[in-house]
Amino acid sequence: MSVRFDGQVAIVTGAGNGLGKSHALELARRGARVVVNDLGGARDGSGGSLTAAQQVVAEIEGFGGEAIANGANVTDYAEVEAMVEAAVEKWGRVDILVNNAGILRDKSFAKMEIDDFRLVMEVHLMGSVNCTKAVWELMRKQNYGRIVMTTSSSGLYGNFGQSNYGAAKMALVGLMNTLYLEGEKYGIKINCLSPTARTRMTEDIIPDPKVLDLMTPESVTAGLLALVAEAAPNRYILGAGAGSFACARIVETEGVYLAPEQQTPEAVLADLDTISDGDQQKELFGGLNQTVKFVQKAAKALDVE
Ligand code: NAD
Repeated sequence: MSVRFDGQVAIVTGAGNGLGKSHALELARRGARVVVNDLGGARDGSGGSLTAAQQVVAEIEGFGGEAIANGANVTDYAEVEAMVEAAVEKWGRVDILVNNAGILRDKSFAKMEIDDFRLVMEVHLMGSVNCTKAVWELMRKQNYGRIVMTTSSSGLYGNFGQSNYGAAKMALVGLMNTLYLEGEKYGIKINCLSPTARTRMTEDIIPDPKVLDLMTPESVTAGLLALVAEAAPNRYILGAGAGSFACARIVETEGVYLAPEQQTPEAVLADLDTISDGDQQKELFGGLNQTVKFVQKAAKALDVE
């Protein structure tokens, strides 16, 4: 089964460099018409220019593909709406949105300025919210859409000095979980990509050139394209890097029911091993499922209909 995007329109944010550039090029090589969005700023989000996006467009046109450059700042909803309108005006639809734009402002939490926390949340979380909101109605009307949130192992598992970035990246998983429920019946599939690759974001964090050479953006792009293909999974967190692919999931253990007289912090602490026993752990598809599970356990223990 070959994955093609002929006739489809894709928006890739932050596509002037690194992973976004690689995603945009491969989508275009496989037939998509691509909006190459990039603010063109530095790694910390300062500055801006359309040159990087224009260079990617030139590369796409060079192999016979179709693309337009766009300099919208994903944090600005009016600019994002105008970007989507420009795509619709030119090509009539938007099938794929890859929320990829991002910045770093790393510091230990003790030293972090609140503005650096806010800006990182704004770009990663609100940038993805803005772009998704701007295509949502269109995708619902089309009865088709593929959206990817770029999360990170920093959010899923933590990383020293990245409280702002990790919080924003994990928030995107929460956003996916609810949009999955709201978009499913309109043919919208929404997934998260957790990449690790050699880009300007990681070059000085992983200084060993031999390691960096293994971590190509193209190897991650293979995973991204799977997440936006017609046959894409839904509500999937795909880890991708250096040619390996893995699925991250949030599971809940079966847990224990404690009788009313045992519902104390002492009993919870004493039971932690049983509470965390993973034998029957499961993914829950919707928050209410947890409530139902807990209420059923109590009703059974107390013999309530
Ligand atoms: P990168 O710095 O090479 O690319 C990010 C791009 O986003 C830049 O071109 C930048 O100009 C653009 N951008 C930043 N703020 C923007 C804004 N407000 N509006 C529009 N464009 C904006 O970094 P990368 O490594 O390619 O990262 C891409 C995505 O992958 C990011 O979301 C990043 O957090 C995530 N990620 C990367 C890695 C990795 O190993 N490289 C790991 C985990 C997550």
